[in-house]
Amino acid sequence: MATRKTPTPVVAEPEPAKCPTCKGTGEVSRTVRVGRKRRTVGRQTGLCLTCLGSGEAPTD
Ligand SMILES: [Zn+2]
Repeated sequence: MATRKTPTPVVAEPEPAKCPTCKGTGEVSRTVRVGRKRRTVGRQTGLCLTCLGSGEAPTD
């Protein structure tokens, strides 16, 4: 009985392009400013408006 190696099928699955804005995370950090002097108080994580949180680059 001949032993034959079963070749592992190469799954050619195209990866979805990552959103360039959030780098595929679906979230972006933005600077939070307050007051008339627009003082920076910190950063806030918000939904990426480019991909709407999916992390994938929008395709036309
Ligand atoms: Zn995004």
